[in-house]
Amino acid sequence: MNERSWLARPAAFFAGDPKPLGREGAVAVIGLGRFGGSLARELASHGVDVIGIDIAEAVVGEFAETLTYVSRADATDEVALRQLGIDEVSRVVIAIGGDLQASILVASRILKLGNQHIWAKAISEPHAEILHQMGIDHVVRPENDMGRRLAHLIRGHISDFLPIDEDFVLARTTPPVRISDAPLASIGVRTTYAVTIVAFKRNGTEHWDIADPEVVLYADDEILVAGHPRKVEAFSELDKDADG
Ligand code: ATP
Repeated sequence: MNERSWLARPAAFFAGDPKPLGREGAVAVIGLGRFGGSLARELASHGVDVIGIDIAEAVVGEFAETLTYVSRADATDEVALRQLGIDEVSRVVIAIGGDLQASILVASRILKLGNQHIWAKAISEPHAEILHQMGIDHVVRPENDMGRRLAHLIRGHISDFLPIDEDFVLARTTPPVRISDAPLASIGVRTTYAVTIVAFKRNGTEHWDIADPEVVLYADDEILVAGHPRKVEAFSELDKDADG
């Protein structure tokens, strides 16, 4: 049992003052709806202390056994946030989307508290723009990001797709025939296709290796490719172009 394991016990066990949790590296999740709730659960399942806040009593009750500390509070209330020690927390996620006014008000309160890392969910482009303009560094649009990802998966050449930013993605695919059977360095993938092959997994094995320049890839390997989404997409479709 590590020294912090007592903090990871369910909230029902932790009934005291939440303030030390912030100083100990807890993450605050404000809004425990579908997005905030699954995020909070996932963090907790990885042993992260989570302070969950929601305005709805019933929602708070659902998380009492899962999170280190949960509180029913209106996060637009700065005094309530300070009482919960949110000003001491370095990582805060504002997971309120549908109620635009609440999202903006909470974001302004949190910015005022001066937390180091703030993520906020947006449900539309204008919403994201407002949060960015206010000074929120990380604005996430889960439905949008998932839609983009799914579009790439459905098209068939890419089996997993991780948007890192608007103009940079990491995709899991298979090596196009024209880059197979020769050392990567001899192909010039980066100069020819403007993408980088980061890692590969041999057919029949379970582990990934870094794709060094001398690596030879085969058509039945799997690869991770990084670069601009359009370039990565084009690269993953090289065989299709050859067929057509
Ligand atoms: P999701 O899709 O994640 O379920 P949503 O966009 O449909 O979210 P929201 O209106 O964003 O729903 O609410 C997400 C959660 O935030 C809800 O559980 C709601 O009770 C909570 N919430 C809304 N306003 C506040 C507030 N002022 N303070 C704390 N929690 C709030």
